[in-house]
Amino acid sequence: MTCKNAPTEQQTLHSPATCMHEPWVWADHPHDDPDCERLWSGKWLWFPPLRLLDDSWNTIRTATHDGVLGYRSKAATLINTRPGSDDTRRPICIYTNDWRDLEDVKRVLNALRDLGNVDVLLYKTDSETRRQRYGQGASTYKALPGRRSMTVPRRTTLLLEHHHTARQHARKAAEQRKRLRTKAPAPAT
Ligand SMILES: [Zn+2]
Repeated sequence: MTCKNAPTEQQTLHSPATCMHEPWVWADHPHDDPDCERLWSGKWLWFPPLRLLDDSWNTIRTATHDGVLGYRSKAATLINTRPGSDDTRRPICIYTNDWRDLEDVKRVLNALRDLGNVDVLLYKTDSETRRQRYGQGASTYKALPGRRSMTVPRRTTLLLEHHHTARQHARKAAEQRKRLRTKAPAPAT
């Protein structure tokens, strides 16, 4: 018998707090398209202590499979350590499609609070992770313990304005091209 929602044996084996096989365990949104190209993805980061890691991950994994979070989540396993980081905790990442989509970022933050999460949460873009920016200074947004609102650092506000301006320019350029096409002389009949 196969049941898509039942945890597979592999998932059961991969409790992050005891897993020695690989650095991350994963959960996908039920309708995620794995081929979708996400240029602007990012994630909420949660850092539960190791003794709470498996319970925390169970909550996040189930909610991800239920489709109430983002397109994907992952938890760092026991063997996933980095020099200089707190070895008594592991990150859980809750991904969203587009860090510039404030409504969606806030929606996922609220869903995490609805699940009972009262810890500090940091949001980071994947492009910053690719550039190896770690630590609190690199966070794009931040939610203080228990808070449903997020703080937006000055440098994020500037980036958002930059993206907004770039989109406006692109839109204006497209409108201009359209106008030029409309103004082109009609073919003689
Ligand atoms: Zn494992």
